[in-house]
Amino acid sequence: MTVTAVGLAAITTAAALGAIKTSGTGGGEGDRGGIFGRNQAARASLQLLPDRIRTELGDSSDSSEAPAAAEVDVQEAIEVPDVVGKSIAEAKALLEAVGLGVELIEDRNRESDIQGDDRSVIAQNPEEGAVVRAGAKIGLTVAAEPDGGRTVTRTRAGDAGSGSTVVIDPGHQSRGDPTHEPIGPGATETKPRVTGGTTGVSTRVPEYEVALQISMNLKTRLEAAGVNVIMTRTTNDVNISNSERALMANEARADLFVRVHADGSTDSTRCGIATLYPGENRWTTPIVARSKRAATLVQESMVAATGATDLGITARTDLSGFNWSKVPAILVECGFLTNSVEDKLLSSPHYQDKLAEGMTAGIIRYLGE
Ligand SMILES: [Zn+2]
Repeated sequence: MTVTAVGLAAITTAAALGAIKTSGTGGGEGDRGGIFGRNQAARASLQLLPDRIRTELGDSSDSSEAPAAAEVDVQEAIEVPDVVGKSIAEAKALLEAVGLGVELIEDRNRESDIQGDDRSVIAQNPEEGAVVRAGAKIGLTVAAEPDGGRTVTRTRAGDAGSGSTVVIDPGHQSRGDPTHEPIGPGATETKPRVTGGTTGVSTRVPEYEVALQISMNLKTRLEAAGVNVIMTRTTNDVNISNSERALMANEARADLFVRVHADGSTDSTRCGIATLYPGENRWTTPIVARSKRAATLVQESMVAATGATDLGITARTDLSGFNWSKVPAILVECGFLTNSVEDKLLSSPHYQDKLAEGMTAGIIRYLGE
């Protein structure tokens, strides 16, 4: 689920009174955090995680977004040049000359009066001086074309997403961690690091379990399509906060960060699939347009594959997992565990296949654009 801490407090209070009739805004990053005690052992084991991630990435870079030169294998290390202010064409030539790829990110809130590769680069990620692996893609933020052009030029993605990287985050974990973290880089506002999520009203299966099952199914399908997949977790007994999950996607320079959740509501009749994406705020501007596009495609193909009620896509500015992400991100709410029919479906291998199949189709379409 995905709700704000405030929303949860309201729901919890109302539920305790047995008086609420309206549907909740969903559970979420902020939900249920206070119910579970903090597990010190699990928290300690988190310290080991960055090493595992480094191993999966095949390098020894630090988990920060701009690792120091000394920490990267010199054989493959490339220092990112400064291309901000240059035209797309110049930036591409410069980056390709040193062995780096390019991903254009169109900022639809800004419109350029020029078309195509003559537009200039507004921002780059990673920044100048960062040391990255050969072949890494540098994200270049540019203004949208005057015609509101929908074209996002890519120089590396294959026809069907082959060669792209997707980070899958199965939502929640077996024990929430109610200690707080900032909701975005430099934020004074905080939220619980991560919560336990909701539980199936009929099956009693917890959200973190369903999310992991669907995520592993999705992983298999994406890998079969040639996509490089990195999981934020493959077991339930972990302690990884929402910001840490986003940092994993940043570190992997993912083409898409896919967060898999199930929803919850105080209205037991509420059902269907919804996809969330980052709304515009001080952190998300560079990723809003591409995230929204991914959300649109994934939502459409999941509804088509499952026949579930279409609850549409929703922009969210309050989710730590979005605010810390520097790569396009979506959060799929696969159905309501508080609806007994959908609860049973969500635990059914056949329905999980349909969900993963739909998600894969949408993601592949997105990666191919
Ligand atoms: Zn959730």
